[in-house]
Amino acid sequence: MDDDVIVRVTDVSKVYELGEDTVYALDGISLEVREGEFVAIMGASGSGKSTLMSIIGCLDQPTSGTYELAGMDVSSMTDDELSDVRSRTLGFIFQNYNLLPRMRAVEQVMVPLIYQHGAQREARAIEALTRVGLGSRLHHRPTEMSGGQQQRVAIARALVANPSVLVADEPTGNLDSRVTGEILALLQQLNEEYGVTILMVTHEPDVAQSAKRIIQVGDGHVISDGPVEHRLRPQLPPLGDDVESEA
Ligand code: ADP
Ligand code: MG
Repeated sequence: MDDDVIVRVTDVSKVYELGEDTVYALDGISLEVREGEFVAIMGASGSGKSTLMSIIGCLDQPTSGTYELAGMDVSSMTDDELSDVRSRTLGFIFQNYNLLPRMRAVEQVMVPLIYQHGAQREARAIEALTRVGLGSRLHHRPTEMSGGQQQRVAIARALVANPSVLVADEPTGNLDSRVTGEILALLQQLNEEYGVTILMVTHEPDVAQSAKRIIQVGDGHVISDGPVEHRLRPQLPPLGDDVESEA
């Protein structure tokens, strides 16, 4: 067994019984992700992407098969154990940012650090926000920021507790193409400079091409899996200050 495999999904099925019908949302899927990878998961609507991500994200359990995350077999854990693993091991980014409406950026990013001392929490939140280029927006609330800025706050929040894997479900789905490029460039930088392992679901080929590897899912299993030959390199604006001009 390779030590640097962080996500190992083995022959996982997820079955839903709908009256007379049996739906195989996942049908014996297997895949491995190693530390430091940036993987895009692609597939048509209904192919099983969200089901796969909720299992990888410890939000749901497989019907059969095994799932190991950072060396732990999580496929038979209780709900409490799962939520513990989730908060220690995973960071999440969503299409709609999922920020808390009235909180300032620095407070949003402190949320995952509830078990730490106050002064340290704030220092780490400021560090994470600076890393995503929002050092000058520490006290802004969601309504006072653009979509791209809100997604950067969400990325800082996902990373502040140093998760083993960053799970992103359509992270650029709400953004225009320029801001999409900025967010993808930021994810590439976090992956390359800080070694963050990223698993990103997208249905957009251009977005997937910015990852290092693409896994194509169809009918609940892997239909192709390989490196990206001509990787897209969107441009990152200078960090530390905010150059976004989006209204
Ligand atoms: P994707 O995210 O790729 O669009 P999903 O993982 O959401 O695909 O769904 C895969 C398949 O499983 C679809 O046919 C969907 O209708 C079915 N499915 C997903 N969740 C449920 C559920 N809770 N109950 C019944 N069927 C479901
Ligand atoms: Mg989906």
